[in-house]
Amino acid sequence: MTVRTVLITGGNRGIGFALAEEFIAQGHRVAVTARSGEGPAGSLTVRADVTDGASLDAAYAEVESKLGPVEVLIANAGITKDTLVMRMTDEEFDSVVDTNLGGTFKVVKRAVKGMLKARFGRIVLISSVVGLYGSAGQVNYSSSKSALVGMARSLTRELGARGITANVVAPGFIETDMTAALPEEQQEQYRKNIPAGRFAQPSEVAKVCAWLASDDAGYISGAVIPVDGGLGMGH
Ligand code: NDP
Repeated sequence: MTVRTVLITGGNRGIGFALAEEFIAQGHRVAVTARSGEGPAGSLTVRADVTDGASLDAAYAEVESKLGPVEVLIANAGITKDTLVMRMTDEEFDSVVDTNLGGTFKVVKRAVKGMLKARFGRIVLISSVVGLYGSAGQVNYSSSKSALVGMARSLTRELGARGITANVVAPGFIETDMTAALPEEQQEQYRKNIPAGRFAQPSEVAKVCAWLASDDAGYISGAVIPVDGGLGMGH
């Protein structure tokens, strides 16, 4: 196993926190961005808002000076602002797209600089099953998440020959603050439609991402890997 410098956005809770725990357990150097709170013990926490380029510049500078150039980027930070399309305000659309898509672009762009120099990089974009499955009440969120597929595939075509891979992981229903906020009836509806018959833990997403970042996954790029208990089959 090669020890890498790993940066995870939104590592203070939920899937991002579990990602940091997994990479630390595997012996990597791990930094997380957080707007508040901290990543797990053993990680370097840097302050950044993914919609704010200046804060990202400062965060990257700190990570690079303390841990070295970022070799593995997991773009995980994301938000929802669910409502039916007829009620969705421009602000609700724009802020979700700015965070989930624009924020991902900003972190990827900074990471690619060092990856090109090193002629090595692993980029994992955390999308969602609803990016390709669709979801009533999530026109903003699903649009932002499906766009990550185009981003990963374009990155693959642009950077594939330089030792850089870019993949999408599309989680289904994972037990975090984001899904705890959904009404009980909606949770039950999801559960009925998931072939696995259960929701998943953040660690189940983290292990797949860690494998995609590993030496073994060097020939996988532009892929969309579902971690959804079969919910989105047919993508
Ligand atoms: P949480 O709501 O638990 O955590 C979201 C994380 O993103 C937090 O660390 C949050 O930071 C961070 N974040 C949000 N906006 C910004 C921003 N502007 N700048 C920096 N950080 C930000 O969500 P999950 O852990 O559930 O989700 C993580 C990712 O996985 C998201 O992209 C989500 O869309 C995706 N996903 C989740 C699924 C699920 O079932 N939970 C299913 C499919 C995809 P802060 O604490 O400061 O708010």
